[in-house]
Amino acid sequence: MIKNDNVNVNANVNVNDHGLRLKNLTLPALESFALSLGEQKFRARQIFKWMYQKRLPDFSGMANMPKTLRAALAEKAVIGKLEPRRILESSAGDAVKFAFSLLGTGYAAESVLLIDGDRRTACLSSQLGCALGCKFCETAKLGLVRNLSAEEIIGQLVGINDYQAAKGDKLVTNVVFMGMGEALGNFESFRAALSIIMHGDAFNIGARRITVSTAGVVPSIERLMGEGLAIGLAISLNAWNDEARGRLMPINRKYPIESLIGAAKRYHSKTGRRVTFEYVLIEGETDTGEAAAALERLLGGFPCKINLIPVNPAACNLPAPPDGKVERFAEELHKRGLSATIRKSRGRDIMGACGQLTGVDVGVDLDVDVDVDVDVDVDVDVKIKR
Ligand code: SF4
Repeated sequence: MIKNDNVNVNANVNVNDHGLRLKNLTLPALESFALSLGEQKFRARQIFKWMYQKRLPDFSGMANMPKTLRAALAEKAVIGKLEPRRILESSAGDAVKFAFSLLGTGYAAESVLLIDGDRRTACLSSQLGCALGCKFCETAKLGLVRNLSAEEIIGQLVGINDYQAAKGDKLVTNVVFMGMGEALGNFESFRAALSIIMHGDAFNIGARRITVSTAGVVPSIERLMGEGLAIGLAISLNAWNDEARGRLMPINRKYPIESLIGAAKRYHSKTGRRVTFEYVLIEGETDTGEAAAALERLLGGFPCKINLIPVNPAACNLPAPPDGKVERFAEELHKRGLSATIRKSRGRDIMGACGQLTGVDVGVDLDVDVDVDVDVDVDVDVKIKR
């Protein structure tokens, strides 16, 4: 396990020896930088387009800018790219897992591309490891190594689009923050990354096509509401009473179910978005008739969706419901007037709740046998690209 003692959890990489790292900047910050160089604001939009639409790694190809400006930029700033250390494609062709090397470290951030009809969904990581310790989650075993910078979050998206462009396939249409880490626990980087993802001169992905998953940090949900963004909110609920949820998710001791559902209801009234509750099904624990009745008491009458996720036993040693039980549990919820869907497993449930990526590509485990990675995470038949 990687220890995080005495580690600054914030990746403070805005400036390094090579200059200002531009992918950490929102458009207004980039405009201020352009002004500081004696340039006009519109240069920032041009740079934005080159960085995110053309995905250039440096200034040399920015054809609509004078050479003198490109040279000045190269002296003071850096763009750069995250390089994929490994890319795994699921045998069904519906999921691709990436491990991106993190700048200046031996670590990797994991992301997943999900392919479904016309939709190309990027599942991004926001932290390296996670501090919240959910029992069903492999990422939790790493502890929190550190927060990712905005550049490192955005870099995953640029890398996935590079991969898609090379294949001649569509670029990413949707984004979910369900990879490694609690995105709302890294709010500043997450917020900056969101502003870039949504901007028309960058990725131009609207709020309705973005979802953030949270383990239930209530003040951060309130803070997100204050941003007025109306992105989708998915709450990792996973249990129907505080005692059981507290065992699975230690964060529940701080923000119990009632406070969490209160925050979800406020989020819905403020944004108009239907909140999704992710609910991991564990045999004999969260998949019982008592659980269904309790969910009705908790969520009946609230326009929300329950996303049922059979636990991945290979990843966390908890028993999965037997065949047919997931469907029966969904049916039971429907009878009780609740809207429930079953998460389609792509590969071997490589997505999980809010971050079931194992981190086997991360740092200390670099020498791990790839087959282990494959078995645990991406199904039994994947093609190793790199
Ligand atoms: S489920 Fe999400 S919040 Fe919980 S430990 Fe895993 S990454 Fe962190």
